[in-house]
Amino acid sequence: MEYQAKQVFAKHDVPVTLGTVVENAEDARAAAEELGGRVVVKAQVKTGGRGKAGGVKLAADPDDAVARAGEILGMDIKGHTVHRVLLAPTADIAEEYYFSFLVDRANRNHLCIASIEGGIEIEEVAKTNPDAVAKVSIDPGVGVDDAKAAEIVAATRFPAEVADEAKELIKKLWDVFVKEDATLVEVNPLVRLAEGGLEALDGKVSLDENADFRHDDHAQFEDTSSVDPLEQAAKEKGLNYVKLDGAVGIIGNGAGLVMSTLDVVAYAGEKHDGVKPANFLDIGGGASAEVMANGLHIILGDDQVKSVFVNVFGGITACDAVANGIVHALELLGDEANKPLVVRLDGNNVEEGRRILSEMSHPLVTMVDTMDGAADRAAELAAAAN
Ligand code: GDP
Ligand code: MN
Repeated sequence: MEYQAKQVFAKHDVPVTLGTVVENAEDARAAAEELGGRVVVKAQVKTGGRGKAGGVKLAADPDDAVARAGEILGMDIKGHTVHRVLLAPTADIAEEYYFSFLVDRANRNHLCIASIEGGIEIEEVAKTNPDAVAKVSIDPGVGVDDAKAAEIVAATRFPAEVADEAKELIKKLWDVFVKEDATLVEVNPLVRLAEGGLEALDGKVSLDENADFRHDDHAQFEDTSSVDPLEQAAKEKGLNYVKLDGAVGIIGNGAGLVMSTLDVVAYAGEKHDGVKPANFLDIGGGASAEVMANGLHIILGDDQVKSVFVNVFGGITACDAVANGIVHALELLGDEANKPLVVRLDGNNVEEGRRILSEMSHPLVTMVDTMDGAADRAAELAAAAN
């Protein structure tokens, strides 16, 4: 969230105003008084476009701050409920810039994207006037030194009067990116204040979870309250699950196989009312009955799911073991298993696996031999149930 990003920025001497976070409107009065009366009230949610959604408002005095906070708290912004607002003294803005560092996977490099036409219309600027958006590649082995900072400032065409300050600020943001093990550091807007000086007025930082062991202070940034309940339940069961928006539940073994399953289902869905995959779920190598039952339990708990595609390639865990896993999972689930399942098994011991499943002859289970065929069938069943 913005207020957390600003705390991280402050740690690395990036100019910010930390302000005060409150969780109920009445607390905004004392906070605003302490901040000098005229404040900006900003929704704290992990999504962008708060300004356009009415989640950023200026308040003329403490009473006004209470009123604005009351409007913003509880608001829904792109599916995120606002539980906190940040109050900060209102900045007098002369210009708004966009600045970011990110991982450029395609080029195996880091990338700086920056523009002097920042603010809430940056996506529009990128579309209609791409020349106004500078992209500067950064060699991770070299990082952002004085020369690279100067190159970024020149490419972005920062005004001469802020050029030197911008160079220093850019190096500090690079510190945030590297020292915090971030995969994204974004400032929009980075502002030039009317009284002079640059300030990060908004911030977004994505931290690399794989580096958490190096950062004891990163655990505090996790927001368990706004995690999707299905994802939370899956996490507690140790399942690798990501909720998506479609109607075809997906279970597979191995992240690569599951990723391609999402693709073939999305492709097949184009012929069936545009149905899409409902989730990513990798049950890994074991595929025991218990893991299969846990996975099915999560997926069937998703009201959007209309059919389930179980796509398993038998490797070290052979197909017969997976088939037994499915049979026992369906026994464990009983009446909870209430949506059609399309199963595609292939690989080690496939004949035996298919025999076990056909012997069960469960009314909800259909077997299809190929991945494309099974995706098509699952999409068709989901479309028919909609
Ligand atoms: P976002 O819409 O979620 O990116 O939220 P931002 O924090 O970027 O705020 C959106 C816009 O509100 C900014 O681009 C500014 O134009 C405006 N804004 C935010 N804080 C202030 C402030 O302190 N003073 C003024 N005048 N405008 C502000
Ligand atoms: Mn912003």
